[in-house]
Amino acid sequence: MSFRSLFLGLSLIATTALAADPLLVAGDKFRQLEELLPTPNSYRTASGAPGHQYWQQQADYHIDVTLDDANQSLSATEVITYTNHSPDTLRYLWLQLDANRFRQDSMANRMRTVSVADEGDKANRIDMGSYRRELMTQVHPSGINLTRVNGKGGEPLKYTLVDTLMRVDLPTALKPGQSFELTIGWQYQIHEQKALGGRSGYEYFERDDNYLYEVAQWFPRMAVYSDAHGWHNKPFLRHGEFTLEFGDYQVNITVPADHVVTATGILTNPEEVLTPVQRQRLAQARNANTPVQIITKTEALENEKRRSEDTKTWRFKADRVRDFAWASSRKFLWDAQGYNKGGTDTLAMSLYPEEATPLWDRYSTAAIVHTLDVYNRYSFDYPYPVAISVNGPVGGMEYPMLSFNGPRPEINKEDRSDRTWSRRTKYGLITVIIHEVGHNYFPMIVNSDERQWSWMDEGLNTFVQYLAQQAWEEEYPSKGGEPREIISYMKSEGQVPIMTNSESILQFGNNAYAKPATALNILRETILGRELFDFAFREYAERWKFKRPMPADFFRTLEDASGVDLDWFWRGWFYTTDHVDISIDRVRHFTVNTKDPEIESQWQRRQHQEKPETITEQRNQGMPRFIDGKPELHDFYNDHDQFTATNQARNDYADMLAKLEPFERDLLQDDHNVYLLDFSNLGGLVMPILLELSYDDGSSESLTLPAEIWVKNAQKVTKMLVRPREKRLTSVVVDPHWQTADTDVDNNHYPRQILPSRLELFKEKKKKNMMQNYAEPLKESGKEDG
Ligand SMILES: [Zn+2]
Repeated sequence: MSFRSLFLGLSLIATTALAADPLLVAGDKFRQLEELLPTPNSYRTASGAPGHQYWQQQADYHIDVTLDDANQSLSATEVITYTNHSPDTLRYLWLQLDANRFRQDSMANRMRTVSVADEGDKANRIDMGSYRRELMTQVHPSGINLTRVNGKGGEPLKYTLVDTLMRVDLPTALKPGQSFELTIGWQYQIHEQKALGGRSGYEYFERDDNYLYEVAQWFPRMAVYSDAHGWHNKPFLRHGEFTLEFGDYQVNITVPADHVVTATGILTNPEEVLTPVQRQRLAQARNANTPVQIITKTEALENEKRRSEDTKTWRFKADRVRDFAWASSRKFLWDAQGYNKGGTDTLAMSLYPEEATPLWDRYSTAAIVHTLDVYNRYSFDYPYPVAISVNGPVGGMEYPMLSFNGPRPEINKEDRSDRTWSRRTKYGLITVIIHEVGHNYFPMIVNSDERQWSWMDEGLNTFVQYLAQQAWEEEYPSKGGEPREIISYMKSEGQVPIMTNSESILQFGNNAYAKPATALNILRETILGRELFDFAFREYAERWKFKRPMPADFFRTLEDASGVDLDWFWRGWFYTTDHVDISIDRVRHFTVNTKDPEIESQWQRRQHQEKPETITEQRNQGMPRFIDGKPELHDFYNDHDQFTATNQARNDYADMLAKLEPFERDLLQDDHNVYLLDFSNLGGLVMPILLELSYDDGSSESLTLPAEIWVKNAQKVTKMLVRPREKRLTSVVVDPHWQTADTDVDNNHYPRQILPSRLELFKEKKKKNMMQNYAEPLKESGKEDG
């Protein structure tokens, strides 16, 4: 044997030996996360809290912007005061120019791919929306057109554009504790939202020739510089929305005098832009129990006919926010209702065009109030002075204090007063408002980085949204949260772990929203219980409000505050694509063997007799046998079966008893029922085994085996149950209340069940032939189009 074959031989033995150990085959699903998480330091502690030297930068803005309604464009100037609270000296600053995503040459546009099948039913097809966007991208002059980038003394600063980012080189390095002031002027062509998509844009209303603007991601914003990542200078591609620094904003928005403007922050000059009646209604709304109309439908319909040549400047002030968005139109109806509870003193407001009634006047502000109620309960008191929902072209998007929400009723064109809506539209509206207003908490205040981790705000927010939906009405059609709703995703192909960068996520909605929300709901209802979970979740929100958490801070805080090792849970749900499928494979029943020949011989005989007769035995019954009537052929064995107790057995038994301790003798007398339950983990994700046990006396019992049952062998385990003599187990059900998102409930029953279902019968449709189609009478509209 050569050295080489000796070595191979040994390694083969080693592999076989490894394969035999289930812990090594399935991996240690309880291995602590420390090796994956960043090392704790004085900025972020091992407990998941901000450290004693935690810092973050501050970016304050003074912006003057003018809306050109005729050209749907903006011209603006901003003064940014950037304060370096980091311990580092900075030689350059990075800014986000997210609107540059709409430039023809943006990375987002150039990286966009299509999938057009070249065979089958869907061959050579592309949807009109995608094609229209492709065409619009060719011609739309989008992006931030910089007119100046100056220092405090007006001196031009050297800057470099890198896709949606801009680096500004500082004339002198910015030391810790110092501030730098820069002035930026720019022009910005707003895009038609329905044509180019995105999280902002305008909508044009042909009937009254008006525009409605939802303006966001519209100004050069300071990129984040943090202890965890340095500059967060990733380009804006598609999914990873943004993270920004907190700061104080003063924004002056000049619009046509008949426009109504709403924005992040409080209006500081209402006497200049609102009528006395509107101001009085706003004051009245503060203490109202239902929304008060600030601008009524009649007033809005009147206003949308105007075309003022004058302008007005609306002045807004917002403190401790990480962004600023606004909306403007002649078309707005406006309602408001005060919310003053606990530490929250705010005004819930909705602005929407007439086209959104009567859904919006009924539900929007009510949904905001409800969101504040529920989110305050599970996180912290809403700290801002306003909470606004605006209806326009954007389907759903959040900014501080302000959200854009899309759903509207169907309008009958023949009779505009005839309005209907689907169930989906109604609950879609309430859901999107809860969701987008809820984003004030995550990530507008708990400032996670969506450009890196979508789940940290979408997932956490969808989880609290689920709690709010359940608190809105019974049987609310929630999508994310209920374990049974996530099953088809959990067993689907093409998944990536939740811990995946926003742009690389496959099946975005399920991965970033529904799965983390469901995981947290399971953690709350099934792993920790409501009390422990709610305490720990609130602790996370409190620790990180107005700060910037990373995934490790969330994982660590929930363990730190609940006192429960959840590393296996984070590992399984957030770092893998395993799913839950626990099978009850077998139940074995035992009673203790007494070793007493008198008892055991009878027991064995009974077992023998209870076996089913073979078919031959059945057919041979009553058959005459050869020894019948021949006593000379009978002996001892014809009178004593194989189970007969012998004296030797009795003596052995007595000898054995004499050698036993009293407790050992008692054990032989024990008459409990002993059950061995075999489980296998087919999905890979370790979870507690929730059991419902039924007995023949009609009673049942719930039993939870903790996830740690899988600690040594994550594939197969056997659990022993000892029950009193009178309790005979008749059935075992795993996860009877569908709490764990177990993907295959057929194997959750022992014995297995036959479940009823419906078989759909269908009939092939007969197609008309060409002669029949040709002979069909031509309609008027067909002639016109043809
Ligand atoms: Zn969201």
